[in-house]
Amino acid sequence: MKVLVLNCGSSSIKYQLLDMEKESAIAKGLVERIGMEGSKLSQMSNWEKHVIEQPINEHVIGIQLILEALTDKDIGVIATIDEIKAVGHRTTHGGEKFSGSSLITEEVIDALVELSELAPLHNPPQIKGIRAIQKVLPDVPNVGTFDTAFHNNMPPEAYMYAIPYEYYERYGIRRYGFHGMSHQYVSTRAAEMLGKDIKDLKIITCHLGNGASLAAVKNGVSIDTSMGFTPLPGLVMGTRCGDIDPAIIFYLGKKEHIDCMDLDSVLNKKSGALGLSGISSDFRDLEIASEEGNERAKMTLDIFHYRIKGYIGKYAAAMNGVDAIVFTAGIGENSQFTRSECMKGLDFLGVELDEEKNKTRGEEKIISTDASKVKVMVIPTNEELVIARETLRIVG
Ligand code: ADP
Repeated sequence: MKVLVLNCGSSSIKYQLLDMEKESAIAKGLVERIGMEGSKLSQMSNWEKHVIEQPINEHVIGIQLILEALTDKDIGVIATIDEIKAVGHRTTHGGEKFSGSSLITEEVIDALVELSELAPLHNPPQIKGIRAIQKVLPDVPNVGTFDTAFHNNMPPEAYMYAIPYEYYERYGIRRYGFHGMSHQYVSTRAAEMLGKDIKDLKIITCHLGNGASLAAVKNGVSIDTSMGFTPLPGLVMGTRCGDIDPAIIFYLGKKEHIDCMDLDSVLNKKSGALGLSGISSDFRDLEIASEEGNERAKMTLDIFHYRIKGYIGKYAAAMNGVDAIVFTAGIGENSQFTRSECMKGLDFLGVELDEEKNKTRGEEKIISTDASKVKVMVIPTNEELVIARETLRIVG
């Protein structure tokens, strides 16, 4: 059975077609610059990259192009679109309504529209993508898999903010957490690699990409995570500030005469590693600059690592111990330096990194010593596979 997975952004659609008998992607691609000059589709299929450049004015045109590329006699991987039995969508914000994946019905779309206030950049283009595929493949079921759902069983002490309770009741202001599919995938995979039941494990998962978050996964359930009401708090990210004193916002507003929306953009787009270093939001650039002696790049990396360690300590305390720490996403999978720095000084927890094993990139591996009480692991994430599995489970 083939499942198409879509991740729709405001001007892009990432897609994968998965063969669920083998649980592997048979084509992956990206439609980009929708509604702009230079729009194109790039697809990896049959071990080659193919690019189709053409005007793509709206999402529905992009979806049509994806289906044409998947069924094309030269670059395609299926004979007809009838082979696609279901479509899984990445849906960002499920609020408190969705504690799991859901078959997309008109009521679910209404709920997604309502939740758009909480994820204004993500939910609306995802709804557009759902509408577009409904037009092109009207008989194929659609399933939404929410970034927030894996964190839906956090206890109130982890998700409530200490502001007047009525704001929680009135506006749903609480921690939701994100990157749920990734935390779910790598924690499940960690248990499989360790040959243990996830129900017996305490795992800390570190998703370190442009956006970054940690999660405490106790007995298979996320009990806390570093992102919050939005994906802004927690770790230092590429351009997002992570945790700051909220009073800074009022102070800055006054001093710099900037209004709320401009400050929102400063904290989301001009802060984090970019704002601190003044060099780049890309951690590869920062590692190089730091090696060359740039003090601000070094300081940025130090803060990034220090904050990760802080959350590891918090989550180890929350779970009364930790059995495994997992690194994933762009930085977590690739940066030997970050993994090494984050694991320094955690011997009191029973962490012992093997620096030889740590010389690895983008492959599943245990990188702690055999004697290490806490297993340190690198596991490439696979959010699309989680979406496809969930889609299959829902449509039966
Ligand atoms: P996202 O999906 O959130 O956009 P990714 O998970 O693809 O992000 O991660 C992208 C980030 O990974 C880049 O910004 C870059 O900083 C980092 N990265 C990739 N390779 C390396 C590497 N070898 N060393 C350090 N950082 C890396």
